Amino acid sequence: MSDKSKKYGIMGGTFDPIHIGHLVIAEEVRNKFNLDKVIFIPSGQPPHKNLSNVTEPEHRYQMTLLATISNPYFEVSSIEMDRAGKTYTVDTIKKLNEVFNEEVDFYFITGADAILDLPTWKNVNELLTLCNFVAATRPGFGLEKMQKGIEKLEKKYNRSIYTLIVPALQISSTDIRNRINNNQSIKYLLPESVEHYIYKNNLYKSSENGGLF
Ligand code: NAP
Repeated sequence: MSDKSKKYGIMGGTFDPIHIGHLVIAEEVRNKFNLDKVIFIPSGQPPHKNLSNVTEPEHRYQMTLLATISNPYFEVSSIEMDRAGKTYTVDTIKKLNEVFNEEVDFYFITGADAILDLPTWKNVNELLTLCNFVAATRPGFGLEKMQKGIEKLEKKYNRSIYTLIVPALQISSTDIRNRINNNQSIKYLLPESVEHYIYKNNLYKSSENGGLF
């Protein structure tokens, strides 16, 4: 894959909501791997999640746009939200290869917990030939288990998986949702524009936003 002229990061996630941890990871990976840009792709219908527990894609997309707008190296794509039904990463990367005429090396960036489930993903063997994987995790958070799990995957699929420990990942979307529901501050955990969007649209407070609580 190294003869390709460009390198793009693909930041896949539910982003419910996007927070500073996600932004720091994307910027760290961009620096470390010398990426030309990072494309954030909010999941449409995540294959492994109950849809009634996830906020509407339009809200997650808008929050991702607001969070990334000030970084010229960040973009947001609605490619997964625009697809009906469950959205699988292998289909997304295939589509991106079509769009970019196979001239780009992709680095799929996501949480280590998600990567450890890789054997359950659709067409995982093919997926691993289509892009590189970068697994980000928070310090001390099951680090040993994660390393062992990733080594197993590397052996099983004969592919390298990059890992990155990011202190800012102590912030989590689950914690932010719980704080809002408990009337606690979320200041400085996510960009101010996203915080305002959440309050304006009354997200994570009641069942109105798609049934989080
Ligand atoms: P998740 O279960 O919501 O997240 C797993 C963990 O990773 C959480 O701790 C989460 O923290 C963190 N995380 C999420 N996105 C991250 C990112 N881009 N960088 C670093 N940490 C991240 O996982 P998910 O968001 O639903 O799925 C992650 C990606 O894998 C999505 O693009 C999804 O479509 C893909 N996926 C594909 C398949 C498949 O093709 N079959 C199956 C599963 C997942 P926060 O909660 O704070 O975000």
